[in-house]
Amino acid sequence: MITYDNVTKIYQGGDVRAVEDVSVKIEEGEFVFLIGPSGAGKTTLLRFLIREDRPTSGDIWYKEENVVKIPAHKIPQLRRRIGMVFQDFKLLQQQTVEENVSFALEVTGKNSKEIKEVVPYLLEKVGLSDRMGAYPRELSTGEQQRVAIARALVHEPEVLLADEPTGNLDYDNAKQIVELLRQINDWGTTVIMATHDEGLIKKAKKARVLKLEDGRLEEK
Ligand code: ADP
Repeated sequence: MITYDNVTKIYQGGDVRAVEDVSVKIEEGEFVFLIGPSGAGKTTLLRFLIREDRPTSGDIWYKEENVVKIPAHKIPQLRRRIGMVFQDFKLLQQQTVEENVSFALEVTGKNSKEIKEVVPYLLEKVGLSDRMGAYPRELSTGEQQRVAIARALVHEPEVLLADEPTGNLDYDNAKQIVELLRQINDWGTTVIMATHDEGLIKKAKKARVLKLEDGRLEEK
């Protein structure tokens, strides 16, 4: 489903090889932990997949398309098929939980009837049915990440990328977010979660672990 083919990224200036000759295949339905210390190249690798950036050399295939080469007008469509969540949630602070999730549908022109059905359904899936009217500041950090996850699911993506989704959470909340991502994977979405926290993955069974160190990838 996803193939990185000899992918290298050298940032401008030429002295930082953020990613070095990475080749890996990820199959549909997999749950993958991408681990490695801060600065190892995890974010860089994930950003390529939604064409936030491009490698210096190498190709990245998503199904039948080389995302390195797709024209700019196809990028929005790609980002509907591949959702992403971040360490810092990126929620709109002046909008409620419900509005944060609705907004992601409004911008793609979905009609209000559909939005009114989909948003409560997604918030129920992430365990936030009773917080729809709350503002982000009224939520715990774990709950804020759940909103971000619900928002990332609005277009029923085939893949969900989570970049250090537990970086701002305490251990219990972090475990719950990993559990939620596992559930989302069970429901059929391919999930790639980047984390520097190896302790978090120790208990997770049946997951594939890819380790990045200084831009080089190895299977664990
Ligand atoms: P991780 O997500 O594992 O913490 P990153 O992918 O963010 O790692 O970074 C990998 C390396 O690339 C680091 O050395 C980082 O400083 C460098 N880097 C990331 N983004 C840029 C950029 N825009 N310009 C220059 N160097 C960058």
